[in-house]
Amino acid sequence: NIVILGSINVDRILHIAQLPQPGETIKMTQLDLAAGGKGANQAVAAARSGAATTFIGAVGTDAEGRMMHEQLVANGINVDHVAQVADMVTGQAYILLQAGGQNSIIINAGANALVSPALVAQSEAVFEQADFVITQFETPVAAALAAFDSARDHGVTTILNPAPASDQPQDDLLRLTDVIAPNETESARLTGIKITDAASLTASAAYFHQRGVKAVIITLGEQGSFLSYAGQEQRVPAFRVDAVDTTAAGDTFIGAMVSQLRPDLSNLVAAMTYASKASALTVQKLGAFPSIPTEKAIQSFGQS
Ligand code: ADP
Repeated sequence: NIVILGSINVDRILHIAQLPQPGETIKMTQLDLAAGGKGANQAVAAARSGAATTFIGAVGTDAEGRMMHEQLVANGINVDHVAQVADMVTGQAYILLQAGGQNSIIINAGANALVSPALVAQSEAVFEQADFVITQFETPVAAALAAFDSARDHGVTTILNPAPASDQPQDDLLRLTDVIAPNETESARLTGIKITDAASLTASAAYFHQRGVKAVIITLGEQGSFLSYAGQEQRVPAFRVDAVDTTAAGDTFIGAMVSQLRPDLSNLVAAMTYASKASALTVQKLGAFPSIPTEKAIQSFGQS
């Protein structure tokens, strides 16, 4: 059983040739609406890979909140602990998608900003049944601390995806973190170490290990991913595909990986390999929820 504490957003995908310069007006070539948010994406990735998944989060009571609620339910996710907050908009993301698949994102947190230690306390019972809890930085860190505290009390394995990138030191949270999974940018912002080569990966991992994190997974886009665990380092390659939209690549990687992971972390590399297949499928499709593959698709991708 996987518990996800995190964000729920409605994504508006603005297709553009390239980012406008300050003062410049440009036209979009297409506008799409899709379900997303880092927390919700990770939950959908885990659920589509067959894991029992429970969400702790918040939406508004607006039409978009109802839509997101329905989308999570349609994916088989337990939404008993998704608060519906009156007079608050549901989280929104404006995704500026450039030709070639590069994206730049602007977020309006909305109801996600109200995910609190109190909401986590109300959801305390879910930690009794859980194997893993996953969280990110699109909801307040105070809630993440409360969740990881409860997780530790119940022997639940904690996974932190420190995204979006932040340079606030998070030593209190890292002390409660079993597995951290940043991308290159998020790692560099937290550690102050720019990732350029093998030595910088080792140094970045050391930063996290020194603060109590057991396993460090750094995702490197098309370059695959890196693991540092139990004194060993390993690289897991990405699969070569034509990317059309990299939105939710990292989220798919995390949700899919945890769906396969043993709570004692004894099969990290196998879980990362599965996750690499999952995210290689995600980048070939537009949108967050719409692009996240099922277990069946991931397994047949591996055979081709
Ligand atoms: P984020 O989306 O958080 O920036 P990354 O870009 O590091 O995360 O991607 C996460 C994982 O998704 C990578 O480790 C890789 O396995 C896979 N991936 C990302 N981009 C591509 C790509 N263009 N082709 C194939 N796999 C990709």
